Amino acid sequence: MSMIKIKDLIYNYIKHDEEGNVAEENRALDDVDLKINEGEFVAILGRNGSGKSTLAKHMNGLLLPSEGAIWISGMDTADEDKLWKIRQTAGMVFQNPDNQIIGSVVEEDVGFGPENLGVPTEEIWQRVEKSLEEVGMIAYRKSSPNRLSGGQKQRVAIAGVMAMKPRCIILDEPTAMLDPNGRSEVIRTVRELNQLEGITVVLITHYMEEAAHADRVVVMKHGCKMLEGSPREVFAQVEVIKDSGLDVPQVTELAYRLRKRGLDIPEGILSTQELTDALKAAYTGCTSR
Ligand code: ATP
Ligand code: MG
Repeated sequence: MSMIKIKDLIYNYIKHDEEGNVAEENRALDDVDLKINEGEFVAILGRNGSGKSTLAKHMNGLLLPSEGAIWISGMDTADEDKLWKIRQTAGMVFQNPDNQIIGSVVEEDVGFGPENLGVPTEEIWQRVEKSLEEVGMIAYRKSSPNRLSGGQKQRVAIAGVMAMKPRCIILDEPTAMLDPNGRSEVIRTVRELNQLEGITVVLITHYMEEAAHADRVVVMKHGCKMLEGSPREVFAQVEVIKDSGLDVPQVTELAYRLRKRGLDIPEGILSTQELTDALKAAYTGCTSR
């Protein structure tokens, strides 16, 4: 069974005037189909306003489709009785940690989710400790979240979701407020959760390098799915991606330029190592390092 299944999803933001009539309708998602398998790591890319956050908010029932449907682990998000279970299955991390942190002490904040789920006290503390260790925030367990930097707060927010042991985590630009170190730490954590614990990850990001680690990349444009495939397949389409106002990873761009100048290197290079190997092979006709 798919972890997430989206069928013909349309979503319109509707503004009403004072009389309650529809004053404005803005189609944010336009007939999206998408399946995400259990254990998969999917990155979603797209320019500002392409519908990424609207899509993410459908993935734990924060928004309901105007048309079409979405199922989380087989549960239709339009089924109100399932909403609690859906939110337990699919945890959400947003861009701005200030809106997500409610506790006045870090460890209490992280424990809030499992407590709400009725997890026994002793296990709550174990989960809090493990989650804080995973995001590198254990040293701050007794701190007030107000005193943390944006990046640290975001790691606490991620720990809060992890402590609920969801089967799927949806992260909407979770690294947007972090410095490069914080970013790689968070991405490493998310990848470990995916690889070691088998958690399904949906990562919305503006950083192409983060998407390069995913099993699959989905590119959104004007509320539609524009491209979908492995990072290599998607980033091989350098011109299509650049025409739609996005970038490809720096090393992919460099490889693309060299290839355009006539060097015999493959499309869709994703790492410096791959580029180095390809260059060596191109110059010596030998692939060994
Ligand atoms: P960003 O990269 O800036 O986060 P996004 O890809 O997440 O953008 P969305 O926030 O999903 O895009 O927005 C999709 C479309 O819906 C945009 O045209 C946006 O202006 C519109 N929109 C988003 N939220 C609302 C809202 N609350 N009311 C009306 N229109 C909205
Ligand atoms: Mg967004």
